[in-house]
Amino acid sequence: MPNSNYVGIDLGTANTLVATPQKGIIINEPSYVAYDNRTEEIIAIGSEAKKLVGKTAQNISVVRPLRDGVIGDFELTLAMLNYFVRQAINKSMFVRPKVIVCIPCGVTQVEHSALENALFEVGVSSVALVEEPVAAAIGANLSFKQPVGNMVVDIGGGTTEVAVVTAGGVAVSNSIRVAGDELNEAISEYIKTKFNVEIGEITAEDIKKEIGSAHKSTDVGMLEVRGRNLITGLPAVFNIYSGEVRNAMLPVLNQIIDVIKAPLEVTPPELCGDIYMSGITLTGGGAMLAGISRLVGEKTHLKVYVAKRPLECVLEGIIKIMTKDVYSSVLKVSNHKKQ
Ligand code: ADP
Ligand code: MG
Repeated sequence: MPNSNYVGIDLGTANTLVATPQKGIIINEPSYVAYDNRTEEIIAIGSEAKKLVGKTAQNISVVRPLRDGVIGDFELTLAMLNYFVRQAINKSMFVRPKVIVCIPCGVTQVEHSALENALFEVGVSSVALVEEPVAAAIGANLSFKQPVGNMVVDIGGGTTEVAVVTAGGVAVSNSIRVAGDELNEAISEYIKTKFNVEIGEITAEDIKKEIGSAHKSTDVGMLEVRGRNLITGLPAVFNIYSGEVRNAMLPVLNQIIDVIKAPLEVTPPELCGDIYMSGITLTGGGAMLAGISRLVGEKTHLKVYVAKRPLECVLEGIIKIMTKDVYSSVLKVSNHKKQ
């Protein structure tokens, strides 16, 4: 296992990261595709496409093909994967690499096969799947091989994944298609209702990252925001406070808390005891929301840690899997090309 010719991919709803064992992370780009909706020609992929969100001419569409954690638009996912894997191959001078890719726990068999097919289409020689919480646990340096329960919560763009991992596998898991995107939408909706102003999705995300807060203790003042007044149709500017943003996000945060609490109720008692000691580890971009660990801690009465690099944690796990034999048991390999 710890040899060349591997490419690791964290295909996320918001960001796609690619790594090789030799070079570490070589691609880290938003999962966006821009295309001409008359000719279907692809115009931009990754960060170049994200720059176009909300700013395109009429004939250009910008989409996130994996929006809700699975392959929403197969053709565009294929184009995006093709582009990233080709870049990785060029950067590493591979011919037909073996791919290790992370998949969210909640995906169906049909979606599994769609993903594998997309990769074979790009020309890889084999595809091995690894469950996202398993990669996240390895990436976060949790004691994974030992029979000790750890709870990992990954809050991404489209999905929140919760899993209790122990002895090299997943004991209990739960997921919901509610995560960072829904927090952005809640902020937009609030602004529409309170200020009669429409804002773009990138602005909503910026508000969340800059003054968003999940706990009163992390509220941080206010931000000047621009958008379009829905009544006059004219550009508008207003100030929004951190506490208002928190209140707007609260219903979504409560949904995320419920998804974290539910598996705790069905986790076998011995593992529950372990989690009491080991706590919960948060990963994914949503783990960077100010105050989130505090909120989860208060609601679950458990210790909560944020992984060192939440956005890279899953891929760091994949890198370890690519380079260390001890982790090979977590892979689900598929060698034959499906038509
Ligand atoms: P995915 O694995 O689904 O691609 P990521 O783990 O890359 O998702 O996380 C992306 C999500 O994290 C987005 O919703 C983004 O807005 C959110 N995010 C990134 N940085 C922050 C931050 N500093 N505060 C709050 N949310 C953040
Ligand atoms: Mg992810």
